[in-house]
Amino acid sequence: MSDYVIPTPPVTSIPVASGGAFPVRRVYCIGRNYAAHAIEMGHDPDREPPFFFQKNPDNLDTTGDFPYPPHTSDVHHEAELTVVLKSGGKNIPVERAMDHVYGYALSLDMTRRDLQGEMKKAGRPWEIGKAFERSAPIGPIHTVEEVGHLEEGAITLKVNGDLRQEGDLNQLIWKTPEMISYLSEYFELAAGDVIMTGTPSGVGPVVKGDVMEVEVSPLGTLSVTVT
Ligand code: MN
Repeated sequence: MSDYVIPTPPVTSIPVASGGAFPVRRVYCIGRNYAAHAIEMGHDPDREPPFFFQKNPDNLDTTGDFPYPPHTSDVHHEAELTVVLKSGGKNIPVERAMDHVYGYALSLDMTRRDLQGEMKKAGRPWEIGKAFERSAPIGPIHTVEEVGHLEEGAITLKVNGDLRQEGDLNQLIWKTPEMISYLSEYFELAAGDVIMTGTPSGVGPVVKGDVMEVEVSPLGTLSVTVT
């Protein structure tokens, strides 16, 4: 018996392909982590320090539907590889960082680009553009035991069968162990943390009825319909 005074909020979890469910603690997202995408967003692709923002755990969505959100007319797809952690800590050295990885999933960092742009211009936080309801469609987690560590290979996004985004995981400016190490200097990481690793170039808008398909070969396909 607890003495909570309201019903306890549900724990968000992501199904694991080999069985079970992965409970989520936090969702970190890295910005501009592929050079070609940094350039298309008007930024220098040089290796400046990484920057992060967060989504809310309950923004993750495994239904395969993405309801078009309110107060925007420019919702963009960002296909991303997601890394999930089975353990964490502070000041994790790069050489130990991969010991904390439980597995990988395909995901979308859906973005209200018009609202994000207004916030950027005003020097304000991005949550209204990034951390809205069901803004992070995600597929099942594939464990390291199942697929190994994903350091290279194509990542693509199609909309209605047309190729829109294409990159290679080996083009990540900040590699997975570097992201984990860097984050752990600023935050205490822990089991249940989820890191969206950034998107290749080719981001663009979707409309109701569009079907988005994200692919990274060992992870299969994440198919999400805009409703
Ligand atoms: Mn992103």
